Amino acid sequence: MSFFSTKLGIDLGTANTKVFVPGKGVVLKEPSVVAMSEPERKILAVGEEAKNMVGKTPENIVAYRPMKDGVIADYRVTEAMLRYFIHKALGRWNIWKPEILLSVPAAITSTERRAVIEAAIKAGAKNAYVVKEPILAAIGAGIPIHEPVGRMVVDIGGGTTDVAVISLGGIVSSTSVKCAGNRIDYAIADYVKKTYNLAIGDKMAEDIKIQIGSALPLQEEFAMEIKGRDFVTGLPRAMEMKTNEVVKAIGRELREMIKAIKEALQETPPELASDIIEKGIIMTGGSSQLRNLPELVLRRTGVTAKLAKDPLFCVVRGTGITLEHLDAYKKAIVSKR
Ligand code: ADP
Ligand code: MG
Repeated sequence: MSFFSTKLGIDLGTANTKVFVPGKGVVLKEPSVVAMSEPERKILAVGEEAKNMVGKTPENIVAYRPMKDGVIADYRVTEAMLRYFIHKALGRWNIWKPEILLSVPAAITSTERRAVIEAAIKAGAKNAYVVKEPILAAIGAGIPIHEPVGRMVVDIGGGTTDVAVISLGGIVSSTSVKCAGNRIDYAIADYVKKTYNLAIGDKMAEDIKIQIGSALPLQEEFAMEIKGRDFVTGLPRAMEMKTNEVVKAIGRELREMIKAIKEALQETPPELASDIIEKGIIMTGGSSQLRNLPELVLRRTGVTAKLAKDPLFCVVRGTGITLEHLDAYKKAIVSKR
């Protein structure tokens, strides 16, 4: 029976949607992107296929990201995207309506929470539950959340950096800033444009960040060939870029992220602060994998920061673990319609 599981954990991220099936693990990770025709607004593709169309499509096809800052910006498109991912995760022969547990931002309003549950039901869920993201990130990072010990979880994704202090299975405090992976990509593209008169695409900027980027300057830099279009001649051009230029390009964004962590630490009650110093800050989310980011956090705050295992999948792993113990968690942290 467990082979044809009818439970799904879904992390609806700004950048990527991830799906977890209990007993199987992470079965899907695709960009939270929908390609639509204009002006009919007909949905043409979802996920990886839709993302590959970005910047390469005729003008009457637009790539749409229906999740903005972790909440649903477009209801109809989110529902369609969810339906596609649910079908893909369950396989075409599945006939059961799944129970779905979704992650939601810590600061979600009750209206936004209802919208997420509604979208999941309309997209084919039998029941839908939501759990706050920092709790799921902590569970997915392997932290025993029910201990009376203060922990700080910093999740850096595509759209937001979310900082939360948790203790006894609940969120003590949380903050969110709209500065994360996407803003880092824009900063790199902006730097290349201003410094070299070279226009590069979103994908190129992200590749630069991942391949050679770093939060701290390196003595032995990485280098890569970057390609774009020259602003002056209008012709395609390639050039080399090195790590320390990227560090310079993204300085402001890093400062903004660090500021959010610092302010959260400053507002943490002393007993919990001492726990956090002892246990260290836990970092999750795809963007926490930026080279040397935990080291930067340590240098700027004085508190050790550790990268969780498989940081991009902590939240979705948390949804899966919670689903596997749904009855135990139901009372404490899960909210249903
Ligand atoms: P979200 O939950 O908002 O969808 P994710 O946790 O999936 O975000 O992380 C996506 C972000 O992580 C993207 O901005 C992506 O560029 C970034 N990312 C992925 N891998 C790396 C890496 N190795 N270094 C830096 N950033 C990364
Ligand atoms: Mg996320």
